[in-house]
Amino acid sequence: MKPKKTLTIALMLILLSTLPFTALASDGDSLSGEGYVVVPANPVQAVEEPKADPVESVQPVEAADQSDSAAADDEVQERLVGTVKLTSGNLNIRKGPTLEDEVIGKLPNGSRVEVLEQLDEWVKIPYQGTSAYVSKPYLVIAKETIKPNAGASKIIVLDPGHGGKDPGAIASDKTYESTLVWGYAVKAKEVLEKSGYTVIMTRDEKNSCTDYKSIYDELDCRSGLANKVGGHLYISLHADANPSKNFRGTVTFYNARNDLDGYQNPFPQESKRLAELIQSQVQPTVGSKDRGVDNKNYYVNRMNTVPSVLIELGVMTNAEDLKLLKSKSMPEKVAVALRKALDQYFSEL
Ligand SMILES: [Zn+2]
Repeated sequence: MKPKKTLTIALMLILLSTLPFTALASDGDSLSGEGYVVVPANPVQAVEEPKADPVESVQPVEAADQSDSAAADDEVQERLVGTVKLTSGNLNIRKGPTLEDEVIGKLPNGSRVEVLEQLDEWVKIPYQGTSAYVSKPYLVIAKETIKPNAGASKIIVLDPGHGGKDPGAIASDKTYESTLVWGYAVKAKEVLEKSGYTVIMTRDEKNSCTDYKSIYDELDCRSGLANKVGGHLYISLHADANPSKNFRGTVTFYNARNDLDGYQNPFPQESKRLAELIQSQVQPTVGSKDRGVDNKNYYVNRMNTVPSVLIELGVMTNAEDLKLLKSKSMPEKVAVALRKALDQYFSEL
């Protein structure tokens, strides 16, 4: 890596904005932008200087125009979904429906996959843009019904991670995570609002949860927004970074534990379900590895007042994932996948 001036400035900005929380890898290309979200609740909030309400700029929520919410695919959709049930280890994903076929991936216990086709002993699933096979006896297969308008009038708070002075993860080609996920958020807002959802962003021309002096104030702005606007769900969009260039995959986090500082999301079951549904739609759409869903202590999830997830769409320090994430058609595909997951979520309520 050449010591370029721009990179040095970017590094300084990251250090300045997230100093106590950002894990710096030895290689500047592998900056993790995620450290800052695993911080305890603000222990010094009570003694800080009073300041303007960070979300005073929130505008009254206007219902989305639902006149064209009846999309072309308006009828009830059904699909089969398999949930991996294992006592230990992972379920092999194979190229073909025999034990002789090459193992090309693994599904963790509890993963949910769409069932494209059922053979006697094998099930065909979507995998990395094509399809693959897993052993049928380890899947619990159930039918899911999606009502496309189940989420009409629901308010979704969408949180494109980082922003302002904080670029988040930085890829080797200098792609910023904050810029990348912004593109996904804009497309998701567009697609969701066509289906009748109202989408409020944590950073746009109306709300700006960035560049606070304190990381706590920034995270409080983000995690408190759903409460302020009467939101129903909170979805934080991120892309990961890792010191290992081979590390890749899509993962969705939720919070159903209080072992960090006693705080926990008040909707652990709903958050977990939302995470499962989003992971099962978005992971095969992105086409990277399946890192499953995970119960973590991320601030924006556990300090939220509504069911909340944080999705790492892929890993920006992995060349294959970066290519997938930067593909021009991917934001719209992911937006449709998110919409299907939300339709499914609200169909089940
Ligand atoms: Zn991030």
